Amino acid sequence: MQLPEYELTYLKGVGPQRARLLAEELNITTRQQLLYYFPYKYIDRSRIYKIDELTADMPYIQVIGSVVSFQEAGQGRSKRLTATFSDGTGTLELVWFKGTKFITERYKLGEKYLVFGKPAVYGQQLTIAHPEMDLATDQNLRRLIQGQQAFYLTSEKMKNAGLTTYMMHKVMFTLFSTLTTRLPETLPNYLIERLHLMSLDESLRQVHFPTSAALLQNARYRLKLEELLYLQLHIVRYTHNRNKHLKGFAFERIGDMFNTFYKTCLPFELTGAQKRVLKEIRNNVAGEVQMNRLVQGDVGSGKTLVALMSMLMAIDNGFQACMMAPTEILASQHFENLRRMLAPLPVKVALLTGSTKKKERDVLHAGLRDGSVHILVGTHALIEDEVQFKNLGLAVIDEQHRFGVAQRSKLWHKNVLPPHILVMTATPIPRTLAMTLYGDLDVSVIDELPPGRKPIQTLHRYDNRLAQLYEFMHGQLAEGRQIYVVYPLIEESEKSDYKNLIEGFDHMKKVFPEVEVGMVHGKMKPAEKDAEMQRFVTGQTRLLVSTTVIEVGVDVPNASMMVIQNAERFGLSQLHQLRGRVGRGADQSYCVLLTPFNLSQDGRKRIDIMTSTNDGFEISEADLKLRGPGDIEGLQQSGMPMDLHIADITRDGQLVEYTRRLAIEILEKDPQLESPENSLLRRELTQKYAHKINWGVIS
Ligand code: ADP
Ligand code: MG
Repeated sequence: MQLPEYELTYLKGVGPQRARLLAEELNITTRQQLLYYFPYKYIDRSRIYKIDELTADMPYIQVIGSVVSFQEAGQGRSKRLTATFSDGTGTLELVWFKGTKFITERYKLGEKYLVFGKPAVYGQQLTIAHPEMDLATDQNLRRLIQGQQAFYLTSEKMKNAGLTTYMMHKVMFTLFSTLTTRLPETLPNYLIERLHLMSLDESLRQVHFPTSAALLQNARYRLKLEELLYLQLHIVRYTHNRNKHLKGFAFERIGDMFNTFYKTCLPFELTGAQKRVLKEIRNNVAGEVQMNRLVQGDVGSGKTLVALMSMLMAIDNGFQACMMAPTEILASQHFENLRRMLAPLPVKVALLTGSTKKKERDVLHAGLRDGSVHILVGTHALIEDEVQFKNLGLAVIDEQHRFGVAQRSKLWHKNVLPPHILVMTATPIPRTLAMTLYGDLDVSVIDELPPGRKPIQTLHRYDNRLAQLYEFMHGQLAEGRQIYVVYPLIEESEKSDYKNLIEGFDHMKKVFPEVEVGMVHGKMKPAEKDAEMQRFVTGQTRLLVSTTVIEVGVDVPNASMMVIQNAERFGLSQLHQLRGRVGRGADQSYCVLLTPFNLSQDGRKRIDIMTSTNDGFEISEADLKLRGPGDIEGLQQSGMPMDLHIADITRDGQLVEYTRRLAIEILEKDPQLESPENSLLRRELTQKYAHKINWGVIS
């Protein structure tokens, strides 16, 4: 679609200063971009009220009348200007706390105005503070009383310069009145007809100036569908091209290591889901295309084992493997686990972290280069350039959301062909969403927990009644169990949080003298933290006071209880991750959420969700609903260029799914979009996505 791209400066009501603000604050420099700056909400303005109908609990309303008089009132900070406004049925007070000089100059006594705002009551008086006020001319009424009025997000800076939502609305109106022709269509006719879509021209007009709720809904649907369709076309085509071009190592055989491990070392039967995912991985690495696969599995679903067995596939085919974890604690735990489980096999496992000594490091580097080290476990220290492998065939990344795409891509350079990549994450997001967020990854899901686990019991308790809880904890400790006590440590309130943590530690030592109490937090030196953690893993300390540093991955099956202090301050997925640290053994496990008596509505909802389900998928869906768009972990790092103005992949899940199928269908018939009927798709797709950074290609 091509519009004349005048500078917005020349659009009536904008001018140089506001044009600059639009560019700086919203990245909008052209009329075309302005058209796509969509409202974030709508308020019904179809009705004009009478003043005697108004009550303070009404949302935004509008009345027509005139100013009877202006009065100044108050002193200093409470200084204000009020106007008595009448429409014949009653009077209303309008109030301004700033810009008062401008108001008295601008609005004339006796003229008819349309006043729009939210009514409130002060004393006995019905008032509207800072109302929108327009002369009740025919033209203004036509513009303003159309139905749903759009509201636009504007920054503080914009508001200060007069670019309020109200002004944006006016600017939009001017913009549309300068358009002399219909906006050219951006979807092919056959789709418009088949899917019964509104035209682009009408959709854009409706979305800014809706004439009815139903038409607005159709308009939004069309615009969302279009955005998501182009995104999915991009992803599907990209994945297809990647698979065609990205050569990888073929792991042709399943060999001795894998078989011996499976038959003799495995302490338990694999779950059905683990088997299925292993098969998916096996099929993927057997071909000559590089694997880029995301394994999603709730906490405790046994991802580590899947990773381990995949690494054995690499070793059986003469390759090395590495496994990268986000923290030192986790890396050393993986290292210990792998070493223990692989002890009967001639597989050499090594550990590399930031605190590995220079001398050890040199030995390790040599071992990696000559191939005598088969598996390297580590933190991101292992992506550094000096770490060179003889023949790296598979790289596993645990807990993906802690790593950026750029880091992932660095692994690709560790061999002549890029090694297969297996990314593991416990963030349980719906599959379609995962396929979109991590559009360059194939997705496998471990949707089954190992058998015999008793579901964790989650309880909510108020933190002013602790005696009973402590008694219960004494009992658990007496049975030989271990307990986590988690405190929030949040950057903004770090000082007082830190104080609480230390006080909590001292308190726990007093209350539980029968056991050794340990403490870990992010401020400790890695070596110290590791040592402390190790003491808990071996059971030397039985109660561990900690911050969320234990959130990710740590596995101590004997720890059967977790107490979370100020649970209302944690996000849902964080609580779920934390809780996943218990319930890993055969014993009944407990998670106690402590909160103060006074809880915000959101806080209470989170606690309710946590006590009612253990299902990570359910929790993440609830989380998406509570937190709203654009806030999901990993979104920023997902690496998929996503230029969405109106669709929200977290909320428009069904449409994401639908457009995915549509994109696949279109590209199956016409992979390069060469047919005349698809020429529009091809052109728009190129325009939208050609300039986007494409990590897969540059890495
Ligand atoms: P996560 O998916 O959270 O990384 P882990 O890989 O740490 O989970 O596994 C959690 C626990 O479950 C570990 O103690 C592991 O040994 C155990 N486990 C894994 N697979 C099975 C299985 N098939 N049967 C029984 N226990 C299993
Ligand atoms: Mg794990």
